[in-house]
Amino acid sequence: MVQNDKFAFIESALTERVQSQRLRSLQPLQPIDAVHVVRSGQVLLNFSSNDYLGLSKHPTLIAAAQQYTEQYGTGATASRLVSGTYEIHQNLEEKLALACGREAALLFNSGFQANSTILAALLDRQSLVLCDRYVHNSLLQGILASGARFKRYAHNDLHQLEAGLQQAQQTFSRILIATETVFSMDGDRCDLDALIDLADRYGAILYLDDAHAVGVLGQDGMGLAAHRAGVDLVIGTFGKAFGTFGAFVTCSRKLRDYLINYCPGFIYTTALPPAVIGAIEAALFLMPTLEAERQFLIQQSNHLRTRLQSFGYDTGASGTQIIPVILGAEEKTLSLSGWLEQQGILATAIRPPTVAAGTARIRLALSSCHTPEHLDRLIGAIQTWSIL
Ligand SMILES: *Cc1c(COP(=O)(O)O)cnc(C)c1O
Repeated sequence: MVQNDKFAFIESALTERVQSQRLRSLQPLQPIDAVHVVRSGQVLLNFSSNDYLGLSKHPTLIAAAQQYTEQYGTGATASRLVSGTYEIHQNLEEKLALACGREAALLFNSGFQANSTILAALLDRQSLVLCDRYVHNSLLQGILASGARFKRYAHNDLHQLEAGLQQAQQTFSRILIATETVFSMDGDRCDLDALIDLADRYGAILYLDDAHAVGVLGQDGMGLAAHRAGVDLVIGTFGKAFGTFGAFVTCSRKLRDYLINYCPGFIYTTALPPAVIGAIEAALFLMPTLEAERQFLIQQSNHLRTRLQSFGYDTGASGTQIIPVILGAEEKTLSLSGWLEQQGILATAIRPPTVAAGTARIRLALSSCHTPEHLDRLIGAIQTWSIL
């Protein structure tokens, strides 16, 4: 009896999710190309992927991954500090730093691992973190693990941030400001100039997560924080517009040395495999040549937002390729998502706790591989649902 009871908490936790209709489950699918997948035999036009440039299926990336696999094998065989640093890892870090106009870069195995362990390594119990209420869960994990004092300011409310900075003078070992540059569920941006100014005036460390801007925005698509003075650490990821996997931080050489010595998420993990390094390198090489694709993506995003707003939909403060259709009620959101699926369109509902209560939404993410006809299909399907 005691044996059976030890997992009673699992039973009740899952039952709670079922009852609140928030049980998450995995829905496998097969990719066809950059914007199509097959699920349960049905072809779906995908508006839920972060493959903003369609690079995950690009022949140049695939060839580079294959070539590096043949040349260096399928695994890096050890952590970076043991025997996992190949020349290809080091070269890639140098190229990334250069492309971002930053002193140094360091690879991480994922954005989640980077945020959750870098923040923990930078902060101690005497530190204060002020972070935007909407930051990605991975940043919260890092902050909580550090035991630092922690305050969230209202989304993009820099007056509240400044009030927090004013109150904090001298009481803390260090103060860190953390935010995303493009917010993952809202597609809006932070005010980078104002944040740089505040961090400078209050002597705070500025930590930016550029995951949804890298590949899409900024000089040569290297993100909103590229080539910006006054920014201390920038996280970029390769699983989104770069079409592959992994992450990096750009920072000063000193900070890089510090992370190599003090960040467990860098030290105690196997280095990224050669195939991934090859794909990232190929994507980085292509980045400056994809200006037309980026322009097209912005243009299509503007068009989609305008059309949705003309039907009366709330797209929040989106100004990027991420366009939320904020419906508020969860049932309504699930209904639209289900309707779109019937029409052959994949557009996943995002519900609390991923987003704030009462702001359930369809998160539409555009790719430069979506054609105007693809958008017309989406717009038509949403319009029909509105008048059902
Ligand atoms: C996706 C995402 C991450 C996590 O990156 P992975 O490489 O997928 O682990 C971190 N931050 C933000 C803002 C993200 O959207």
